[in-house]
Amino acid sequence: MQDFSENLHDVCNEKLGRHLVASLSIEAGDTLLEERPLLVTPHWECGQLKCAQCLQESYVMCRKCQVYPLCMDCSEHDAFECEFFASGAGCRIGKDLLVKNYSICGLLKLLLLLEQPELRAQCQLLVSRPIKLDDYRNEAGMWQEHEEHVVRPLMASGLAEALPGQQLSSDVLHAHCIRIDSNSFEVTGRDGEQLKGVYVCGAGLPHHCVPNTVVALDDQFNMKLYAAVPLATGDIIYASYTNPLMGTSQRQHQLRLSRHMECACTRCLDPTELGTHMSSMKCRECTDGYAVPDLSGTGDWHCLGVDCEGVIPAADVHELLAEVGGAMVEAKGELNAYEALLAQHKPLLHPNHFLLLDIKQNIASILRAEALMNSLNDPCKKLLARRVELCGDLLPVCRAVVPGISKLYAIALFEYLLTFVELTELQFAEADVDKKQYAALLSRARSVAKEALDLLQFEPENSAEGFLTERISMELERIESDIMKYGKL
Ligand SMILES: [Zn+2]
Ligand SMILES: [Zn+2]
Ligand SMILES: [Zn+2]
Ligand SMILES: [Zn+2]
Repeated sequence: MQDFSENLHDVCNEKLGRHLVASLSIEAGDTLLEERPLLVTPHWECGQLKCAQCLQESYVMCRKCQVYPLCMDCSEHDAFECEFFASGAGCRIGKDLLVKNYSICGLLKLLLLLEQPELRAQCQLLVSRPIKLDDYRNEAGMWQEHEEHVVRPLMASGLAEALPGQQLSSDVLHAHCIRIDSNSFEVTGRDGEQLKGVYVCGAGLPHHCVPNTVVALDDQFNMKLYAAVPLATGDIIYASYTNPLMGTSQRQHQLRLSRHMECACTRCLDPTELGTHMSSMKCRECTDGYAVPDLSGTGDWHCLGVDCEGVIPAADVHELLAEVGGAMVEAKGELNAYEALLAQHKPLLHPNHFLLLDIKQNIASILRAEALMNSLNDPCKKLLARRVELCGDLLPVCRAVVPGISKLYAIALFEYLLTFVELTELQFAEADVDKKQYAALLSRARSVAKEALDLLQFEPENSAEGFLTERISMELERIESDIMKYGKL
């Protein structure tokens, strides 16, 4: 099930528990770990029934057990699960178990895996990890959600009596819920829906906001972990469980909620966030200074300018962030509202500030949708040029926050490439640029395409990134043929 190559071995220490380190020096792109998911399940809050077999939307139930949803394409699901409810120990449990309490399906899956002797060993690694329940018990959010939507309905369903060997109690179920949450990666289902994939080995890796590995997932949810940067003997293998385009306090907040951890990685401890300044504010006292948070003291933002003593109180910063966050929700996909927000807040924040990036990404995606709609009648150069500019702004930040082999950067390059080529072709068609200029612009596009392909070369073919690679290769072919045609003088 899990297979870590001779490149790695596991060690244990107090700070990280059991974790993996490099056994020898490893090159970027080398495979470190391959693993099938223990289980894939919708998020707890998912209300839409999913097919028990393929996880696409489903509206009918399995005829045999009448408990599990199936889709139009699937006629059966896991035989053990089906038998359990059709004629096994679970046959007396209400047939509406999942219809009424769909949130329990991930935990139910784990409980039934534990019933099967040949699969139990594989779950053991997950289930044997101790959970200090008292650290979680008094928390509102997560504990409450598990209690209300998963633990209570499961205890009331009669399942505990049907699985006597597991001695299920509320506490046992809570611990399982936490294990599922803290050992999962976000995976994308066939219908585009976000799901949770539980990977005993891969998702148990310690977190770092600047991970030294890349997680690749194919269309069967199989995981391949490979090195993002060269690794030296003894290097700890890290994965990331946050969005690198968020600022430090936002990432830490998310990690606290999802993984119950306090991150103290190099990026989190650096007020400039590795020189990206993704949380830096424009100083109010001097003209060109930026203020960064004082992470060890007051938490206020202090100007980095040599002779400047400018301070922005933390409360002011938090208020501003909350205000912009609210305005983003209010903007509801309105292009002008986002442009106004951008203009209003640009003077207050560092150009790389995560909020500006977020606004810019929103604008870029609206412009893409508009470009698609307008492409039949009048593709607008102004609109394309604006999108090229926005996508271009994102590139250096995406490059800086995830060094080495980065899917984030590859996707940002792809977005930039498409719009850049579209604009260039239009400029040439309308005679804004001559043949020579056109060929020069296309050779820039060619190097962008090659850089993106280079970053995606270790991704499996049957994955979203694999399709992206195909798409970029096609684009590259077109670019090269035009360079051949127009590049000759
Ligand atoms: Zn199906
Ligand atoms: Zn069934
Ligand atoms: Zn961190
Ligand atoms: Zn200043």
